[in-house]
Amino acid sequence: HVKESGRNSILQYSEELEESIRRRKVLSQQLLSAVINDEFEVHYQPILASDSLKVAKLEALLRWTSPSHGPVSPAEFIPLAETSGSIVSIGSWVLRQVCSDLSRFRAEGLELTAAVNISAVQLMQPGLTGLLLSLLAEYGLPSSSLELEITESVLVSGDNILSSLQGLRSHGLRISLDDFGTGFSSLSYLRRFPVDVIKIDRSFISEMTLEPQGDVLVKSIIELSHNLGLKVVSEGIEQAAQFDLLRRLGSDELQGYYISRPMQAVEIYSFLSQNNLIFAKK
Ligand code: C2E
Ligand code: MG
Ligand code: MG
Ligand code: MG
Repeated sequence: HVKESGRNSILQYSEELEESIRRRKVLSQQLLSAVINDEFEVHYQPILASDSLKVAKLEALLRWTSPSHGPVSPAEFIPLAETSGSIVSIGSWVLRQVCSDLSRFRAEGLELTAAVNISAVQLMQPGLTGLLLSLLAEYGLPSSSLELEITESVLVSGDNILSSLQGLRSHGLRISLDDFGTGFSSLSYLRRFPVDVIKIDRSFISEMTLEPQGDVLVKSIIELSHNLGLKVVSEGIEQAAQFDLLRRLGSDELQGYYISRPMQAVEIYSFLSQNNLIFAKK
């Protein structure tokens, strides 16, 4: 009996493995033509300034609907696109879409800033700075309207990173360190690398209100960042208690489902008009 069920579970395991390999193969293949087939959309999640509770900026988050598998999470498809190299053209499409949306907002009188996730592969492309500058010029946007979100893994990936970050910043683009605290970099990276903003990872935020002293890490990260002259964004805020505590601890900006889920560009207008009503009074 034991033997048989053991064999069955091994069989089942290898079938599942095979299925997931097949899925990855299909999705990777589809990603190669997803830009041309117009399968992407950029959604935006508002980030609030902690003091005014007004929208400080929007994070651009990519959405993909696979022709065969329906909506697929970026947590699944971004790594596939990075492996196959299609992230370069996908990333360029995202940047153009974001600039286009920002220029549309401006035409409506809304001067918004967007934070865009940039993968390591994109950052190592020599053409990235040129692309960014030409998009900003084409859409009539100041370089301050874009913030580039990179992760800690980018920092440990090589020497060229330092000079490409310096180059981007010299053109007025801001750099934000995403998912802070989850990667392999040490705190000393904060001093070495030219970043403007750090985003405290959601895992720290969710732990914060769960236990006594749960806020010690967040408190320290905020203090350290401020001592280094960096701004702090807290991401993944899901509850009022977290929202209130983070404001008290001095997190400069706030992001999470408690404030708003990511939404289509056209929905931003109604969010902004309600935003004052929802948050300005708190
Ligand atoms: P990220 O940059 O850390 O983005 C935050 C993720 O957390 C988003 O997931 C967002 O929808 C989600 N989130 C926001 N607030 C909350 C909350 O209160 N609770 C919870 N549980 N989640 C929250 P999403 O959109 O699925 O994106 C996942 C990751 O995929 C992103 O993490 C980013 O690393 C990557 N990604 C998304 N769009 C792009 C893109 O255009 N380019 C690149 N290279 N990566 C992207
Ligand atoms: Mg991000
Ligand atoms: Mg993050
Ligand atoms: Mg992430």
